[in-house]
Amino acid sequence: MMLDASHRFFHQGADALDVAPHLREILLTPNRIVKVELVIEADDGHLLHFHGYRVQHNRLRGPMKGGLRYHPSVDEDHASALAGLMTWKTAVVNVPYGGAKGGINCDPAELSRSELDRLTRMFVQQTRDVIGPTRDIPAPDMNTDASVMGWIMDEYTKYEGFSPAVVTGKPLDLFGSPGREEATGRGVVICIEEALKEQGRTPQGVTVAIQGYGNVGSHAGRILAGLGAKIVAVGDHAGGVANPEGLDAEALAAWVAERRTVKDFPGADAIEPAEVLTWDAEVLIPAAIEDVLTADNANDVRARLIVEAANGPTTPEADEIFHQRDIQVIPDILANAGGVTVSYFEWAQNIQQFRWDLDRVRDELGKIMRSAYADVRGMQKDLKVDARTAAFALALRRVGRAAMSRVHLSKPIEI
Ligand code: NAD
Repeated sequence: MMLDASHRFFHQGADALDVAPHLREILLTPNRIVKVELVIEADDGHLLHFHGYRVQHNRLRGPMKGGLRYHPSVDEDHASALAGLMTWKTAVVNVPYGGAKGGINCDPAELSRSELDRLTRMFVQQTRDVIGPTRDIPAPDMNTDASVMGWIMDEYTKYEGFSPAVVTGKPLDLFGSPGREEATGRGVVICIEEALKEQGRTPQGVTVAIQGYGNVGSHAGRILAGLGAKIVAVGDHAGGVANPEGLDAEALAAWVAERRTVKDFPGADAIEPAEVLTWDAEVLIPAAIEDVLTADNANDVRARLIVEAANGPTTPEADEIFHQRDIQVIPDILANAGGVTVSYFEWAQNIQQFRWDLDRVRDELGKIMRSAYADVRGMQKDLKVDARTAAFALALRRVGRAAMSRVHLSKPIEI
């Protein structure tokens, strides 16, 4: 998602609350932007050279929180847009965090695991003064997994003493939380259940199309299938599959775990990857990449409910079309907040040196997601706006009020 689109959505929320221009400026500006040079020795002895970024957007409601992405496209603008979204997301689910995002402009496919390990440790050495359990807590994002989080914890601990709470999404054997891996997909499903409940329905028999069958898409698909929904189409970077009777969500996940794609999954018709977005299904879950629902395809979307599991899948132009067409959109800053919510549980468990069981994690996640859904709905009714605008307004109000409560202001601002 480009900075422009995220700012546009922010301003829609700010307009609904009539937030003054200078306060918008303050809330949009990142608190700190860190860019570091990373030089490591490659396995064959030559030098590799990258840049690492950490954009710390806002810390008014708690330590900053957000993923670390390893991808050639990582730069300051990209990290800034995603860091801002984290501030609004943590505020929507009301967990005690601000927002941050970062990464390294490398292509992990071209690096060995030991090169990645060295690169990650170099990043920690260069940023250890600005991250930490009470400052900024990284998490996995594109191309960074639980092992990378384990290396971050290990490196930080060398300097600062035992600090599992410096990072979340860690391996279970290294103070990770049960239920973290499935959390984003589970949160998506909770949003779908809440939306269906408003129509007096359950997921039983509901048809669903999913773009992306990685961590988020596959967990959402499996949980939904377990609740009786029919996953009728799935597409990813390499292919697409469909079956009007419903795909076997578990078998499809096992297939993808082995082959990295849904392509050629037996017992299904092959479709073009992009067709999944306009497939004949009641619910559409974009769970892959940003900017996939655009002015070019928004009029062809057949789903009546779109649940944004990915960050920034809808451009502002497509969003406007969905609004006009009366298609319900559950925005990313609500729909995919299950991940950061269970990251918060992991951090809380690490600080207390205490472990929750899976049932407790699922139960607490359910409470937080359902109450965030209700809060957004409440804001929608109060302000008479769509769900995305309401979610931004809710987040802005929470962050803005935290700002106003921190110091005495001779002219306090209503927000
Ligand atoms: P993942 O890498 O596990 O899976 C990504 C999926 O997207 C794969 O199925 C891949 O084939 C597909 N994909 C990639 N490029 C594509 C393209 N051009 N067209 C169609 N499909 C494509 O990633 P993930 O962790 O499941 O994350 C998916 C999305 O959810 C991302 O936008 C991410 O930012 C967002 N998200 C993830 C989490 C989390 O906890 N993992 C939390 C919040 C948001």
